[in-house]
Amino acid sequence: HAKNKGKNGYEIFRPEMEQRAHKRLKLEANLRRALQNDELYLHYQPQIDVRSGRMTGVEVLVRWTCEELGTVSPAEFIPVAEESGVIVSLGRWVLQTACRQAAAWRDAGLLDTIEHVAVNLSACQTRDAGLMDEVAALLEETGLPARLLELEITEGVLMENVHANLELLQKIQAAGIHLSIDDFGTGYSSMSYLKRFPIDQLKIDRSFVSGVPGDGAAIATAIIAMAHSLNLSVVAEGVETEEQMRFLRDAGCDVMQGYYFARPLPADQLTALLTERRLWPTPQQA
Ligand code: C2E
Ligand code: MG
Ligand code: MG
Ligand code: MG
Repeated sequence: HAKNKGKNGYEIFRPEMEQRAHKRLKLEANLRRALQNDELYLHYQPQIDVRSGRMTGVEVLVRWTCEELGTVSPAEFIPVAEESGVIVSLGRWVLQTACRQAAAWRDAGLLDTIEHVAVNLSACQTRDAGLMDEVAALLEETGLPARLLELEITEGVLMENVHANLELLQKIQAAGIHLSIDDFGTGYSSMSYLKRFPIDQLKIDRSFVSGVPGDGAAIATAIIAMAHSLNLSVVAEGVETEEQMRFLRDAGCDVMQGYYFARPLPADQLTALLTERRLWPTPQQA
């Protein structure tokens, strides 16, 4: 009997853990090759200003189509990149590619209504003492004005080390770069820190937006009120329905991003949208 139990335990438990560890190793090995193999690319998602109905921002999102594994989500490979150290070169590549693309759009006169192009920073990047020198060099190389670049740091990462991050945020501000707090509402920030940090914008986490106008409504409304009292603008991420859009408009949200407007798109498709300069179905017109 004992043997059977052991065997059952082995069959039910071990293979699952082994599979997971194996998959992670496989991901890591492939990820190390991804950069050299040109398997990474960027998508760009429009952010729509509620009042004007114009696209005023773009968020840069990394994509990976692995030769062996196919398309892998950043939610899956970014954590692996962080643990394995691959994030250092990956993060650098994202920043460089995004700044070059943004500069090309600007040189073509396509960023007139765009206030910023937002790039996500990983936890490791926020701890990298050389980050801001690298960013400054990139801005110089590409000619992209600092005010057009926005960096996104998640609330969780920001609050992990408030002291060190205050210094980073001050450097970001001194460089004239905008700062946005991503996934807001999922971490544990206090009003007093938010007031001390040089922040431009809060992004309401998708989990609350998807719960609007039901469960997420009270939190979304509270975040908007708090942000405005601190003079910060608010972006709702993951807006998928007209109902969500209308609710968030009435609650005073400034900017919206989500599948309701547009999915993250390859650069050439974003170029087409920028060229078109369309008015989006923001709450005012819908
Ligand atoms: P995030 O920065 O909060 O990005 C928003 C995520 O929501 C993106 O997922 C985007 O594709 C997705 N999204 C946008 N609108 C909608 C919507 O209406 N409905 C739904 N269901 N989803 C929507 P994605 O691209 O899979 O990225 C996931 C996360 O991976 C990002 O969350 C970010 O934390 C991380 N990430 C992506 N690109 C980068 C990068 O270049 N560097 C770093 N460090 N992290 C990145
Ligand atoms: Mg983001
Ligand atoms: Mg987010
Ligand atoms: Mg902003």
